[in-house]
Amino acid sequence: MIGEFSIEMARLTWFGHAAFLLEVGGKRIAFDPWIEGNPKCPISLDDFEGAHIYAVSHSHGDHGLNDAIKLSKEKGGVIVGIFELANYATERGAKAVGANIGGFFDVEGVEIALTEAIHSSDIGSPVGFLVRIGGKTFYHAGDTGLFGGMSLIGDLYSPEVSMLPIGGYYTMDPVQASLALKMLKSKVVAPMHWGTFPVLKGTPELLEEEIRKLGIKVRVLKLKPGEPVEI
Ligand code: ZN
Repeated sequence: MIGEFSIEMARLTWFGHAAFLLEVGGKRIAFDPWIEGNPKCPISLDDFEGAHIYAVSHSHGDHGLNDAIKLSKEKGGVIVGIFELANYATERGAKAVGANIGGFFDVEGVEIALTEAIHSSDIGSPVGFLVRIGGKTFYHAGDTGLFGGMSLIGDLYSPEVSMLPIGGYYTMDPVQASLALKMLKSKVVAPMHWGTFPVLKGTPELLEEEIRKLGIKVRVLKLKPGEPVEI
């Protein structure tokens, strides 16, 4: 049974790397649910309760496409992603909705839009996600470098909460993520894609320092894997 939560409350749980569970407006939305083999994830796939939506940003193994397929088949819920990735999931027996980069569409009563992400992928283009629910807009950037289109996302939607990669090497680092936050006009950031492997050197503390230097006001969530925070 998938849990229900009141519309006022948004609860965010980080499972390490780019994996999050967002509970808001009675929905459970999992982003990049890499659980099996994720060194920072404190739970097993069996322990994960399932979600209404599994938003998978791209096909790389550390973003949970295979886990999302298993979860969709065993515990219900729909995978959302770029068209080709959704087809891949459907061919493997999961329920999936494929779209492309553009405006909002409805999945299970949740408004979702796919955004640009500057990265690579083996199946279709990599993307980020905008999720509009419970009167708030949330942004999960996926794996990406800094790109100017973030200022368009900021102008159009000013997502209250942004989940941004800060590790560097494969994605933005804290310097770039701080400028991203300025463009996005976000008030809260959930740092991700850091600390999993030695090359991912960015930290939330370094991000805070860069935010201070830029003179913008953003709350940096200090998340511990598996411990939910209310936002
Ligand atoms: Zn990647």
